[in-house]
Amino acid sequence: ARQAGLKLLRQHALIAGEAIAANGTGIAVDDPATGEVLGHIPDLGTAETGRAVQAAHDAFADWSTSDPHKRAAFLRAWAGLIDDHLDGLGALMALENGKPFEEAKGEVTYANGFLKWFAGEAERLIGESQDSPLGHVILTFRQAVGPCALITPWNFPAAMLTRKLGPAFAAGCTAVVKPASQTPFTAIALAELAHEAGLPKGALSVVTGDAATIGGVLTASPLIRKLSFTGSTPVGRKLAEQCAPTLKRVSMELGGAAPLIVFADADIDLAVAETIKGKFRNSGQTCVCPNRVYVEASVAEAYAEKLAAEVAKIPVGPAFEDGVKVGPLIEDKAVDKVEDHLKQVTASGGRVLTGGARHALGGRFFQPTVTLGGDDALFRREETFGPLIPVFAFETEDEVVGKANDSDFGLASYLFTRDLDRAMRIGRRIEAGMCGVNTGLISTAVAPFGGVKQSGYGREGSIHGIDEYVDVKAVTLALR
Ligand code: ADP
Repeated sequence: ARQAGLKLLRQHALIAGEAIAANGTGIAVDDPATGEVLGHIPDLGTAETGRAVQAAHDAFADWSTSDPHKRAAFLRAWAGLIDDHLDGLGALMALENGKPFEEAKGEVTYANGFLKWFAGEAERLIGESQDSPLGHVILTFRQAVGPCALITPWNFPAAMLTRKLGPAFAAGCTAVVKPASQTPFTAIALAELAHEAGLPKGALSVVTGDAATIGGVLTASPLIRKLSFTGSTPVGRKLAEQCAPTLKRVSMELGGAAPLIVFADADIDLAVAETIKGKFRNSGQTCVCPNRVYVEASVAEAYAEKLAAEVAKIPVGPAFEDGVKVGPLIEDKAVDKVEDHLKQVTASGGRVLTGGARHALGGRFFQPTVTLGGDDALFRREETFGPLIPVFAFETEDEVVGKANDSDFGLASYLFTRDLDRAMRIGRRIEAGMCGVNTGLISTAVAPFGGVKQSGYGREGSIHGIDEYVDVKAVTLALR
């Protein structure tokens, strides 16, 4: 499998279909499991980013007025090629990101779901007609916003890209993509397949290099009409500021600090299993991972002990080892952060029930860890982004909803209860863009994904995702 991944690895950026090679210099990309350099990407700057923007602008007129069924056919052809290369793309992602190979393939399939879904949306760019009190008929058209800048993170190298490119292309937008420098190869491989599937060359560029430089050019350019960003809240805030002078449309999918709440009436075994599924995807490095678990006091010990017993069995290792469920973290400072969060929760009275240290494999591996007790304040403020589950006990519904909502973030939330009234009550009260009831997995192409408060704005996926890439045009017909 590793070989199939290496076969798709291209050490170049793509500007309007033209490959710009790194030639052994530029930015090194490593395998997080070993630290071994996999290859280089070119360190492009202002001039090349400007060329990509110009290409997106030049390609926009034709692409945005093309038959939407043609764009749907393109998206389906691209999705078909991705399905054909499932193993290779999964392996390439596992190499640069470190997630287990099976999980990486799962992400490719999830990512491809967005292209398939938005192919359908291209065919449903439906407008309205309305009689006006002025005696006119008003027709609305949903038109492409314009050339888009898409900046994506390393934790889902494929899905964060297709979740933006699917609706962008469906709507008729062109795009310049800036992938994360830790995981650029998956984005480049996907872009190559897009061109192979017949995308006009200028409609997609992938620019690699210094993030602040490239981001500066993309946000300053009046030719770029929209920015969609997935990443950390501080960077998102800065990019939103940079977009203000040109008043770009902006979508922001930022950090979370997801609460997971377990009531005494819940199916505890189910809650344990779903906590594990939600938490350990990508080794705990997702913005919807439960960051803090609150359990009703009467069952807190029982839940935490069961959870610890199951977490202790999770196989940890490099991506291509059979059965591995948790891989390395993306970089050294990510391991430092988990260690720091663990230190802080134990210093405030938390007990380690399993794990509790770096893994014997060394490097960027950390033991899957469960703690019980201590202070939850840190976990309301900051994402751990690693395999640590801090569990805290609570007494009342009001208390726990208060704690869940006492955070600047509001992306995902999770709730375990058999009481339907309570589920509905809390589902509505919780300050989050998403709430999973009796499940730890909520992401699919058909569900609206996005946050409230400082987790950002805009929705990706679902019937709402296309709205981020269209403007409503009103044409008023005076009928005489
Ligand atoms: P993470 O903590 O997940 O790495 P970041 O917000 O730092 O989150 O990164 C997400 C994406 O934003 C990456 O592609 C990164 O290169 C890019 N990025 C980081 N800083 C900037 C910046 N100042 N301007 C534009 N893009 C940036």
